[in-house]
Amino acid sequence: MKKTFVTKEQIDEIVKTYPTPFHIYDEKGIRENARRLKEAFSWNKGYKEFFAVKATPNPTILKVLKEEGCGTDCSSLTELMMSEKCGITGREIMFSSNDTPAEEFELAARLGATINLDDFTHIEFLKKTCGIPKRISCRFNPGGVFSLGTDIMDNPGDAKYGMTKPQIIEAYKKLKEYGAEEFGMHAFLASNTVTNEYYPTLAKILFEVAVEIKEATGISLSFINLSGGIGIPYTPDKEPNDIKVIGEGVKKVFEEVLVPAGLSDVSIYTELGRYMLAPYGHLITKAIHEKHTHKEYIGVDACAVNLMRPAMYGAYHHITVLGKEDKPCDHKYDVTGSLCENNDKFAIDRMLPEIEMGDILAIHDTGAHGFAMGYNYNGKLKSAELLLREDGSVLQIRRAETPEDYFATLEGFWDLKV
Ligand SMILES: *Cc1c(COP(=O)(O)O)cnc(C)c1O
Repeated sequence: MKKTFVTKEQIDEIVKTYPTPFHIYDEKGIRENARRLKEAFSWNKGYKEFFAVKATPNPTILKVLKEEGCGTDCSSLTELMMSEKCGITGREIMFSSNDTPAEEFELAARLGATINLDDFTHIEFLKKTCGIPKRISCRFNPGGVFSLGTDIMDNPGDAKYGMTKPQIIEAYKKLKEYGAEEFGMHAFLASNTVTNEYYPTLAKILFEVAVEIKEATGISLSFINLSGGIGIPYTPDKEPNDIKVIGEGVKKVFEEVLVPAGLSDVSIYTELGRYMLAPYGHLITKAIHEKHTHKEYIGVDACAVNLMRPAMYGAYHHITVLGKEDKPCDHKYDVTGSLCENNDKFAIDRMLPEIEMGDILAIHDTGAHGFAMGYNYNGKLKSAELLLREDGSVLQIRRAETPEDYFATLEGFWDLKV
């Protein structure tokens, strides 16, 4: 059974100050999880997690993670700016972008970030834009399908990211010719994997390529970035990943492949987003309408603007009706938002306890790729973000948008005369 990290009593108190809907994050859960990750890879001297900022772009969250030893993985101008504001600069930033505008390379270079090149042609582009830095990384894409045993996990051959093997080998040669001295490799081959096998399997592929690179170019990579992709169990039937087992699995292939090739100094990096934050966020929303037509509907005060994953991917997000955790789930509902879009549903045919108007619903696993994916369709406004501190107090870490925010980019809007 999936449990919320807040109780009805806590939320009843919080909504007196902060009206629904809002996202709330669990600082204690975030810190403990970050420590477990660090511990699982402590066998690797240079290990570092670079939190994927796009998952939860909030400075307070970045600072909490920085305190736990994490850097940032950025891929846009504003993500770099936010990272800098949080005092995360230089080698603490991995700039894993693609289709990168020149100004973003410039800022990344100015901050001393490690630039992770998505394509062979970006070498000349970067050289012209701001020169080739001493330390640089390249993104690999093996093509084909990525499978674990008989399960096809994802389709790298269809993905826009990364270089082919012949290209990446040529890339390292060229970068060396242009003065680079320290090299890394990166790949992201499958998303939201709920299996302990993903990282070890990916690591084996990358480690073997690292050995080939050494043979072909004489370059010993100094880091290998396993990127994101460790998933979480959104549905209650799934078992969460065991990060300790994952760390051990990567260690095993490290010892099998890299150590005998004289590459035992390679640092392992990760760029996890979902795994770091998703379970430690809830979208808190209130039931404001019930509708009995061809189906039973519960209308809530949040909508896809606050959490897009169900509308976009048909993603499952578990829902707890606060205070009714022990009641039987004997009512079948569609839980909807207010957009003029029929896919604006947080749940379809979901069995839940009977919902009364005013009940508070906690939508689970919204800590990553939740608020962040928000948009303003139908002129709906983005919600606040709150942090539940370790001492039980609540800090607003982003206020809700106002109509003024929404109209701010329209020149002269407030002076319009009819
Ligand atoms: C999105 C992304 C991540 C994080 O992915 P998760 O699935 O949230 O772990 C890491 N690296 C890059 C380059 C990404 O685009």
